[in-house]
Amino acid sequence: MIVTEHSTRPLGEEGLANYVQRLRGQLSLTQKELSFKAGIHIQTIRKIEGGQTNRLNQKAKGGLAAALGIPPEYLDAAAKKVSPETITTLKFCPKCWTPGTTPDQMWTDLRSKYCFACGTALRNRCVSCNEPIMSLKFKFCPYCGANYKQNQTTS
Ligand SMILES: [Zn+2]
Ligand SMILES: [Zn+2]
Repeated sequence: MIVTEHSTRPLGEEGLANYVQRLRGQLSLTQKELSFKAGIHIQTIRKIEGGQTNRLNQKAKGGLAAALGIPPEYLDAAAKKVSPETITTLKFCPKCWTPGTTPDQMWTDLRSKYCFACGTALRNRCVSCNEPIMSLKFKFCPYCGANYKQNQTTS
């Protein structure tokens, strides 16, 4: 594993509250400035940094990640106190991946957005209901029953 000097990555046991607070500090932003930049309510920032919430909705997560200059997955990783790699292993090509098998490392790389083999946009959530994929051992989405693997003939 490559550990780089600059610490925009969540550190193991840091947790979401400390992580967001630390990055905000590194960028010298006030809570108000961050809330403005991220397009989310300052109350939400206070809640996150106060450790009152670990769950961010898509809009908050996307806004916050953009404002802090990090991939949204880092926020997930921080909330779960795991390394970002654990989160990103849940990315795959809906066309090439065989459900039940370990996804190719080319897909799980944090920087990968498209399949190296066919160019399809990689997914980490259900095509149908948009719920995050919690386990690639499942072949079907536990929330809506959709098949994780996309049928080639339909799109
Ligand atoms: Zn593919
Ligand atoms: Zn679903």
